Amino acid sequence: MAQTPKEIAIAGAGLVGSLLAAWLAKEGHRVTVYERRPDLRKAAISVGRSINLALSDRGWRALEGVGAAEAVRQNAIPMYGRMIHHEDGSTSHQPYGMEGQAIWSVSRGGLNAVLMDHAEQNGVVFHFENGCDDADHRGPTMVLNSGETVKPDILFAADGAFSRVRLGMMLRNDRFDYNQTYLPHGYKELSIPAAEGGGWLLEKNALHIWPRHDFMLIALANHDGSFTCTLFLPFEGNHAFEHLASPEAVTEFFQQHFATAFELMPTLTDDFFANPTGSLVTVRCQPWVFGRRIALIGDASHAIVPFYGQGMNSGFEDCTVLHQLLQQHGDDWDTLLADYQRLRKPSGDAIADLALQNFVEMRDKVDDMAFLFRKQVEKVLHKYYPDEFVPIYSQVTFSHTPYEQALAASRVHDSFFAEVLPGLDMNAEPDRVLADRLIAAWRGFR
Ligand code: FAD
Repeated sequence: MAQTPKEIAIAGAGLVGSLLAAWLAKEGHRVTVYERRPDLRKAAISVGRSINLALSDRGWRALEGVGAAEAVRQNAIPMYGRMIHHEDGSTSHQPYGMEGQAIWSVSRGGLNAVLMDHAEQNGVVFHFENGCDDADHRGPTMVLNSGETVKPDILFAADGAFSRVRLGMMLRNDRFDYNQTYLPHGYKELSIPAAEGGGWLLEKNALHIWPRHDFMLIALANHDGSFTCTLFLPFEGNHAFEHLASPEAVTEFFQQHFATAFELMPTLTDDFFANPTGSLVTVRCQPWVFGRRIALIGDASHAIVPFYGQGMNSGFEDCTVLHQLLQQHGDDWDTLLADYQRLRKPSGDAIADLALQNFVEMRDKVDDMAFLFRKQVEKVLHKYYPDEFVPIYSQVTFSHTPYEQALAASRVHDSFFAEVLPGLDMNAEPDRVLADRLIAAWRGFR
């Protein structure tokens, strides 16, 4: 549907703000982005969070839609499954989906730079080191760090989990629901260097996990041969950051719990004390749209814990949905933004729950026999009945099924397997015969 060009301001030139800017500019709008930090393409700044990220189907769909997928694909590394590093030093591989299905390790900074370049090529203007200080939906207006006030037609808040725009809305609006919850765990980024002479010291096409029940280490490959590792550990307690206060304590902890990774981490203690310990927050709020002219998007509306690798992917899906609504509603921004909130708020809540559930799976269940057997049963059911049975991981990662449907389906799957698994022989390899038998039960169960 035809659209009259609008003056659109976006707070935040992160992953979601930059993608959204490119898309809106392609639709003919005049888009200006205000970012608090310097331009990451020119200044060597740490964005403060993971160096690399897992990009999956929802993210790819948005990148394809905006025309940036090819540039991103050039430096993306496919990860076809989890490589589990058990406590006895052995490893096992668990495919993520059907053959050929992968999640992709991409550099956060590299992806952000591609999206900013793409947005600029489409006419977006970026202002760096001049972010949002305050925002008011009556107008709307945004006061910048420089003291200047801008008055766009529409303002999008893509300024992340601790959004200033959202704070402005919270202070000015009655009946604004806000919930912020921290996990008892924090995270720390560490690294495994490239092999001497180039190449990777671990299998590059897998997401590596050292699960240790209440804590874990993971590693994702980078294009230069290194791996970025992330330690997830409680702040306090038995095994906790509070006890890792000296290089000796860190060395001993890694030798004891992550011996196979420790051997590959020559800069472990330097990295450990140089890098900050991050916290893990879930933010839920309502509404996402104010005065019909300000909308929250990405982490500003739904910050989630990183264990499903869906924070950015869900933010990119927000952009895909907004773009579809632009096509549908044209100039009718009232309906467009109301529909955006109606469609995306339940999805944001659902992926927040799924991400919290997946933390338990990653750190605690991936080396549990009963859990692994269930995964194998799910795999054969999906292989022989791909339309009737889709594992939850695949629904979230390899499909565009609304997250709230995937969450509802996860409860049905749990009840089904709680009923059927005790009657199965865990020592027998799940096969077609078992799939045929179980699909009948599944049809009756759904
Ligand atoms: P952000 O990336 O936070 O960007 C916000 C931008 O706004 C930043 O540039 C910031 O500088 C700027 N800003 C802040 N305040 C202001 C202001 N007042 N005015 C103007 N600008 C401002 N997601 C995945 O999909 N896959 C993964 O594998 C994954 N791994 C993760 C690992 C970790 C350890 C963490 C913490 C998160 C991970 N995520 C992952 C989640 C992902 O990082 C976020 O969901 C994603 O970055 C959200 O993008 P955003 O643009 O909404 O917010």
